[in-house]
Amino acid sequence: MEPDVDLNPDTDDLPLRANTNHILVRHYVLDLTVHFERKVISGSVVLFLEPCCGVRTKAEDGTGPGDGAGSTEAGGSQDGFVSRSRDVDSIEDGTKGLKKSMTRMDKMFGAREREGDEFQAVSGVGSQTAAETKTIHSSHLWETNSDGDFTLVLDCCDLDVSKVEEVDITSVSAMSSLPSEVRCEKSGVSSVNPQAAFFQKLISLPSSRWKQRHQLFLLCSRAPGAQDGSALHFQRDRWSLQVRKKGATSPQEFPRAVRICYETRPTGGSVRWTKDQDNRVCVYTAGSPINNRALFPCQEPPVAMSTWQATVRAPSECVVLMSGEEQAVPIEDRNTRFSVWNYYVTMPMPASTFTLAVGHWCQVTAEIPPALERGVRDRTDCGKTAKPEAGSAEWTEAELVSGLGSSSGAVVKGSSLQTCSRDQTTCSDSTFSYASFENEGLSVTDYSGMVDDGVSCSHGDYPCRFTEQLARSQRVIPHRVFGPVSLLQKAQMGVLKLLPRCLAAAHAVLGVHPFPRLDVLIVPAGFSSLGMASPHIIFLSQSVLHAGSPDSGENGLSLCGSRMCHEIAHSWFGLVIGARDWTEEWISEGFATYLEDIIWAQAQQLSLQETAEQSDLKALLRWRRLSDELQNSEEELQILRPNMENTGQVSESGSSTVKHALNPDKTFMQVHYLKGYFLLRFLASQVGEQQFIDFFRLFVKKYHGQLILSQDFLRMLLIIFPDMERKGLTLSAIYADWLDQPGIPKWLYERSAVWSQARLVEEVKAEVVKWILLSQSHQGKGRKRKRIEPKVNYKELTSEQLVMLLELLLEESELSVAAMLALQRTYNLQNHDAEVRHRWCELVVKHAHNQAYGDVEHFLVHDQAMGVYLYGELMVHEDPEQQALARRCLSLVQEDMDQSARTVVEEMVL
Ligand SMILES: [Zn+2]
Repeated sequence: MEPDVDLNPDTDDLPLRANTNHILVRHYVLDLTVHFERKVISGSVVLFLEPCCGVRTKAEDGTGPGDGAGSTEAGGSQDGFVSRSRDVDSIEDGTKGLKKSMTRMDKMFGAREREGDEFQAVSGVGSQTAAETKTIHSSHLWETNSDGDFTLVLDCCDLDVSKVEEVDITSVSAMSSLPSEVRCEKSGVSSVNPQAAFFQKLISLPSSRWKQRHQLFLLCSRAPGAQDGSALHFQRDRWSLQVRKKGATSPQEFPRAVRICYETRPTGGSVRWTKDQDNRVCVYTAGSPINNRALFPCQEPPVAMSTWQATVRAPSECVVLMSGEEQAVPIEDRNTRFSVWNYYVTMPMPASTFTLAVGHWCQVTAEIPPALERGVRDRTDCGKTAKPEAGSAEWTEAELVSGLGSSSGAVVKGSSLQTCSRDQTTCSDSTFSYASFENEGLSVTDYSGMVDDGVSCSHGDYPCRFTEQLARSQRVIPHRVFGPVSLLQKAQMGVLKLLPRCLAAAHAVLGVHPFPRLDVLIVPAGFSSLGMASPHIIFLSQSVLHAGSPDSGENGLSLCGSRMCHEIAHSWFGLVIGARDWTEEWISEGFATYLEDIIWAQAQQLSLQETAEQSDLKALLRWRRLSDELQNSEEELQILRPNMENTGQVSESGSSTVKHALNPDKTFMQVHYLKGYFLLRFLASQVGEQQFIDFFRLFVKKYHGQLILSQDFLRMLLIIFPDMERKGLTLSAIYADWLDQPGIPKWLYERSAVWSQARLVEEVKAEVVKWILLSQSHQGKGRKRKRIEPKVNYKELTSEQLVMLLELLLEESELSVAAMLALQRTYNLQNHDAEVRHRWCELVVKHAHNQAYGDVEHFLVHDQAMGVYLYGELMVHEDPEQQALARRCLSLVQEDMDQSARTVVEEMVL
């Protein structure tokens, strides 16, 4: 194995190698085939490249994006730089037991980093000799080799590249109606290369002609390799693929279209091959921290926004879900029993947001057994007088505006780019809820004056929903839910019922939906987090599905609803407005956590009073979680802006690193969610909550389609609310208190004392007293049989209150067996959501309550996204029965576990 010359094994930063300041990918055309028997995806990606005329300097970076960020970055050669970062919501879970597993995780991951990744310096027909390879220590050195050839640096890992070639687009250029004589306006240099001229014209087509643009990209992608030495030199190291053309010494001389033929690897870090809950094979892109670089070679830095189209071949019995603006209709190839799915986007987005899932999933429909449906209707109380017909009419209109309204481009014949009509069966349920919402009329503040008259976009040219009148009034976007057969009913009761409510609520709070449609997929049990948002698709863990029986009421839905609201909020914060530097994860996670409460309260149509009470209880739960985590983690990982003023800076070539992104401890930390959330609560407390949400809408209006740093948000806030600075709340004060330091800001300490006396919390405390008394009444009675249980009236509690109750009981050193039994019986604990059940399992393990070990086993098998620490708890007490339980559970799920979770658990248990 080669030593890893590119990454110091001691550092945990993720390198972003792509030289985006020199050259940019404007469009990807992927042509992929999914081979389940070999666990690989094979095919090609064609990159359409634009040289950058200017080079961004560090000084410019330091100034922040300010106005018109989209037009000034990376030499100003891009249009439509939408900011969008893929976000993974890691385990929102108690951090108890975190510390004890930290040291072991450190050791383990350290070892894995060094040994695990095979270093493949030269693959396929690469031209480098082994000796040459050893001397190449970084892409920078390779770029300035003796020949002086320019190097295209792409981010990738775990890929087997067989060929890289220049694509000859002459034939397409000749047949296209685009004039080939154009000036490169950006550089001011007259172009002599007809292919470059054609390409320049192609990428400059206005958004209204996006169809034509995509058709031409597709035709180009299928053109043959260039005749003269079409194979380009390439070399691969652990984190990148580097490509050169002999004699091409500048980005301008580099080919505009490059085809890379490659295969993924079965164990590639961002493509996960596993089985679903029906034990059928599936594969999905796993997201952070390495995003899609084990799926296709790409430019990872967020500033490298591009559009894409993809053709995916998969076995005909599979469904292929992807980030794409339209639902795809598969075309069956009878010879191969494979089907072909086509997806595309017209909005430039980072390659990291591209999401793919292929499996034997079914669509969740509204049809369910009548008895069950009655229960659901009663509970959700959105039945009133449904008017599906009216709804349908709305839908038809809605479909017309799904982001594609202005398409006047000619469609080139023979292309496989498909558009399709929506599957009507998917509409019925949405229609139902949508219609009922219209009837009830959500009580929303009238924002029409703020956002709805005339949006002038600050981003580049793409078909933007913010400017489409019909899109702006579309409260619920077309949506579908997919999952394994065995979970369809649960997904129907929870996800499908709540989704339109959550979408409508998000619209009421934030305004126009940035994306025209949404698929929700219930991912396999081994998925390592509760949810993940990407453009047009949300992955949800089965742990958030409706818990228990149909009669367990709204309580069984609260985790599902709030988690969906969280993921939906990412459409605005994280996707259509993204962090320019992924180190500032709080920009998406803090916002989504803050908005999740507000949107979910709106979806439940809570009164202001109820909203405030619920929000205080949640704040207290999060405060407990955060303070616990901060006591048990490295200070360095507690800082939201570890690079401080240098945040967002990149090297001359555009490369950079993401701070601590590869630190395994960080995977288990919630600080970006929670501290970010509290910062927003703090700011809301300064300006007023409603005013704060109004400000969010203004901010979205200004910054949608762009990348931001913390200061963009804070500066605008301070301008809109000048009183804050007058009170001493300056930008630097906010940095100092919240973003640039570890630990807990003073305001939060003080405020948490108030939350701990909130009404819903006091209710819980009163119940806790009853339980402690009950437990004590069983103790100290020697062998005397207790004949009569003390008659106690327990108050009914919400799910969040139950979580609180169990957490408080966890602080008790003793609880009698009888109290444990009564606890389980009284609240019917196994029918509650995963948050409640997790606390219950902790309590069971702590008190070795072996009558409920079945609940622990069930949790470890079915709630893998949250179960990691329970293994630690089971092992730490040195109780043979508990340890046997841990080993048994691990052996049951080992095969399908998320790789990093598996490594952690195996280390603890074996
Ligand atoms: Zn726009």
